[in-house]
Amino acid sequence: MLDLLTRPTADTYRSLIAQTSAHVAGRFETTTQPFSGASRAELQKLVDDARLDGEGVGSEQAVREIDELFLEHAVWFHHPAYAAHLNCPVALPAVAAETVLAAVNTSVDTYDQSAVGTLMERRLIAWAADRVGFADGSGVFTSGGTQSNLHALLLAREAALAATALPRPRALARLAVFATASSHFSVGKSALLLGLSDDAVIEVQGDGEGRMDAAALALALREAAASGRLPMAVVATAGTTDRGVIDPVDAIADACDEHGVWLHVDAAYGCGLLVSPRRRHLLTGVERARSVTVDFHKSFFQPVSSSALLVRRPRDLAAGAWHADYLNPLENDEPNQVDVSLQTTRRFDALKLWVTLRALGPDRIGEMFDTVIDLAASVGDEIAADPELELVGRTQLSTVLFRVRPAGADAAAQDALVAGVRRVLFESGRALVAKTVIDGRPCLKLTLLNPQTSLGDIRRILEMVKDAATTLAGIAPEFDEALAGAEVSA
Ligand SMILES: *Cc1c(COP(=O)(O)O)cnc(C)c1O
Repeated sequence: MLDLLTRPTADTYRSLIAQTSAHVAGRFETTTQPFSGASRAELQKLVDDARLDGEGVGSEQAVREIDELFLEHAVWFHHPAYAAHLNCPVALPAVAAETVLAAVNTSVDTYDQSAVGTLMERRLIAWAADRVGFADGSGVFTSGGTQSNLHALLLAREAALAATALPRPRALARLAVFATASSHFSVGKSALLLGLSDDAVIEVQGDGEGRMDAAALALALREAAASGRLPMAVVATAGTTDRGVIDPVDAIADACDEHGVWLHVDAAYGCGLLVSPRRRHLLTGVERARSVTVDFHKSFFQPVSSSALLVRRPRDLAAGAWHADYLNPLENDEPNQVDVSLQTTRRFDALKLWVTLRALGPDRIGEMFDTVIDLAASVGDEIAADPELELVGRTQLSTVLFRVRPAGADAAAQDALVAGVRRVLFESGRALVAKTVIDGRPCLKLTLLNPQTSLGDIRRILEMVKDAATTLAGIAPEFDEALAGAEVSA
């Protein structure tokens, strides 16, 4: 069994990891654009041509093959011309920790499978809860913000059901969750998974810039109660995935307190503010939430996955507990994280954040987040001053929304260009930007999470955007064709 990591293979492990990291390091040294630009047909052929049955080729050869297949055609988040989604370059100490947790293969479900790992995770949860402002908070690491939001809403559902005299099925049908149109799609998806009614998520009016209007929330809560609904949770977003704006958490907490409703703050994106030396105040009021989602794999520069659900009252977590004789029997005095998690077998992702905090200290992480927020503000100014571009709204974090308007293009033509421009850039592999829809109109989106990206780097992306738009708008038949293709791929 020379292919398993055991005592006799320690030396093989050492050389295989050295060889593997040499491939990866080589790519970091030589990669010149965020994506190779290979077509989907080419990539499909490369993938289909790999032989998955038959004799193995050995570890070294297999690793060499992924250098040519995967690393050659990966999408590189560390590249300055990657500016599409909420993906970050990763902190080096976290990458080192990732190799450790994979090798040890700890599962943080029961104490007897993880021991010190469980204690380290719990210490980090206490650290993060303290940063939120929970005096005696708790929580658990999760696979991502989607799971953290689902978990929070499960706990909120159980709290709402426990607080009503109505029988469970009838109460379930009346539960309502309040969020804005800008909240993450995992809120609606969670409502479905939690068996809530189709109209359970009530959309609260925004303030015109993508933030929840707290007065509109207060009104919506009163109306819902008057019509026999059971308000289960309010989801405030700190910051929103598209605009990067932060709901007024303090004022929202006032409305929640008045109606006795669970406040969940989805800070999947904005959690980096918890360690920001200059912008912690943007999260004022978050300590009044009953639960908070944080995605360390977004604004703490952690490798996927690393996220957590944090709760103000540790006993709230008990609503999700389940017991099995073989795992975590009821009579047990060991700290089993499986008691407070939706998962059973679970990665020791906490190790990465632990090593990062020890290596860099929280201020350094927060400064990196501050740096990308500063960059987004400068890019916003630049776009606002450019007659060929139109800035759409202002962010509080690090997204930039805009449209491109080549000479002669009216609003409809500008809208039509969005998908085509994104596609042209993606197919070239030279720069990656995202697209979304704001107030019913398509626009391009940059998400800046690389503190080493300069304004000059972004200027080059904007030039490519303008060139692509001019070409698309100028050559009508190709324009139509590119647009048709873009719609198919959207
Ligand atoms: C990214 C995001 C999520 C989902 O997080 P995943 O880690 O992708 O599951 C939830 N909420 C907001 C506001 C986000 O930006």
